[in-house]
Amino acid sequence: MSQSPSPQSPRSKLGLQLTDLGQLDRIRDALSRNDPRSQFEPLGLREIVVGENVLPDVAETVARHLREAGVAPDRSARVLMMVDPVTIRRDGADFKKAVFAELSGRFDAAWTVLNDGHAVMHADDPVIDEAARFAVGAQCIVSVGGGTVTDVAKIAAQRNGVPVHVVVQTAASVDGFTDNFSVVLQNGVKRTLLTRWPEAVLADTRVIATAPHVLNASGFGELLSMYSAPGDWFLACQMGLDQTYAPVLLDLLELCGEDVETWSSGVRSADHDSCARLAKALLMRGIVTGVGGTTAPLSGMEHLFSHMLDMVSGERGEPTGLHGAQVGVGSVIRAAAWEEFRDRWNSGPVALDRLFPAAETLEATVRDAFATIDPSGRLGEECWSRYRRKLADWHASRAKVEAFFGAWDEKLRQHEAMVLSSGAIAANLHRAGSAKRSRDLEPAPSDELTRWVVANCQFMRERFTVADLLLFCGWWDEAGIARVLARVEAACAAAEDGAR
Ligand SMILES: [Zn+2]
Repeated sequence: MSQSPSPQSPRSKLGLQLTDLGQLDRIRDALSRNDPRSQFEPLGLREIVVGENVLPDVAETVARHLREAGVAPDRSARVLMMVDPVTIRRDGADFKKAVFAELSGRFDAAWTVLNDGHAVMHADDPVIDEAARFAVGAQCIVSVGGGTVTDVAKIAAQRNGVPVHVVVQTAASVDGFTDNFSVVLQNGVKRTLLTRWPEAVLADTRVIATAPHVLNASGFGELLSMYSAPGDWFLACQMGLDQTYAPVLLDLLELCGEDVETWSSGVRSADHDSCARLAKALLMRGIVTGVGGTTAPLSGMEHLFSHMLDMVSGERGEPTGLHGAQVGVGSVIRAAAWEEFRDRWNSGPVALDRLFPAAETLEATVRDAFATIDPSGRLGEECWSRYRRKLADWHASRAKVEAFFGAWDEKLRQHEAMVLSSGAIAANLHRAGSAKRSRDLEPAPSDELTRWVVANCQFMRERFTVADLLLFCGWWDEAGIARVLARVEAACAAAEDGAR
């Protein structure tokens, strides 16, 4: 993932390439050969089919997995297709109707349209309960659509013990098609639940390439957290706050990003091959999250930025933006925050004694910060209870923190090899036509809200990121945050200039 060509090509490290998505056993083997601490979850997904036309594969794929589940794949098999109300076309024809025609030609098929009345469906309790009711007695669920309907279908299958779930993916908007997690909305706050793997994922690249640009651009933003989050994961593991570090997951990610500079512009122009490439990269990313059993390799400060925005819109009862678009913007911010930390540390490190503030000195800061969006204090209480655990872990890790800074030059070199600069991330986002900075988002947060989110994101949860380091160094004050946001702006402006 370094910016300079690495001496070993990504392919040679694991002997894998992205086309191995079609042969999951190869990925399974590579993972088991590289799991010395036996920490990985088994890859429950059985099959991925990526093609320009997956329609002829739908019924046979369902039949194959019914058979494996001990269900006769004939007219008696109860297959439920689950969709949201969005109409998706393929060569002018209604794609969902075409999928249903394939299913009803062979099975006892029915379909249900989930609809919560929102322009973009939310995976909240009423929708999930409705889906689960429809799925009673089904032997297979076929979900057709984007990330939300897929996540809802995973839960409906899990709740009812439906033996087979086949996903037909229609946009490259998220990486959640190929993992065993569902992102749901509970009391206005997004949460990630461990649910179940689908048995098979079919990605129709012609449909994906014609999906609305905002969806694929959002998926591209999500993809780019692979160039920022591993830095936070590395810091957390090196400093003793996370024990899940597993380089093989980064090797898998490297396959996702291969040649991204060359195909990113094709995402902007809805070029078929580039959108197909994005879809494959996100499919592999999902596997990394599911197998790793943790979102940490792909979810650092950039995801905190997105989750905080969602938290604020949830409190205010306002619509939330697209997750991946926010993550892309957050990735530039995380890179800029790291660069600020790195440059200041290089020009004058802080005495290690000063890096360990007493818990009581921060409690009021955390509670006050969240009181501005939730005066009841509920959010402040929740965030403080999480943050104080991180503080306790930080204090307990002092020996590792000191060892880290004792070997700073070497650690810096390792960190830089697994991330991209703010400029490089912004340039990739720009080529793909994805949001780079807050004001590109829809809805666009005000400058004031952006500053608030960046300043307080480290207080939201236990996960350690570079924002914690900046805070402990005393560099996360108004001036420090302004400097980071100025770096973001410079990176975005350079990306635009470079493209002219
Ligand atoms: Zn994400």
